[in-house]
Parts: sequence; structure tokens; C-alpha cells
Amino acid sequence: MKIPRENMNFCRYCNKHTKHIARAYNKKAQRGQSLGTRRHNRAIKGYVGSVEPKIHPKKLGKKQKVMIECQECKKISEKVLGMRTKKKIEIGR
Ligand SMILES: [Zn+2]
Repeated sequence: MKIPRENMNFCRYCNKHTKHIARAYNKKAQRGQSLGTRRHNRAIKGYVGSVEPKIHPKKLGKKQKVMIECQECKKISEKVLGMRTKKKIEIGR
């Protein structure tokens, strides 16, 4: 899946369409002290009811994501690209 590097996108900070530059999305490490992590650790300890994992149906591929940076206010926002694919994104020039 190929994506142009520069594109016009809506910026919610400028409240208009501006030129954006696309970058690859990198997943960051989870925070150890976030509320979800603390709640999960508490559940595992045994003070809450059952923590059996739910069985979800397997999905084919993932929705791809890119980070786009506004060229006027330099704010970075993420953009999710429609369909589920197994192919990775290639950012063109
Ligand atoms: Zn902006």
C-alpha cells in the first residue's frame, strides 16, 4: 500500500485544510503506572472476580496507521487508513 509523503489534510488545530507530511507509526512502550495496567495487575492478584480471557474471533490483517504533521502549526496527529490489510505501508516521496 503506497501513500504520498505530502498531502492535504484537515488540521483540527488550524481548523482548515493544510499541507501535512506523513511518517511511519511506531508503537511506544506501555506505561507501567497507567490506570489500565494497575487495574489489570490488581485483577491478576485476585481481589476482583474472574479474569478469564474472552475468546475473540481472529481478524485478518490490521488497520494501518500513519502519523501526519501539519506544516503550519507543526502538530502531529494520527490517521487510520480505512481497510484491514496484511500489507505494510510504503510512504512515497
Ligand atoms: Zn495545523
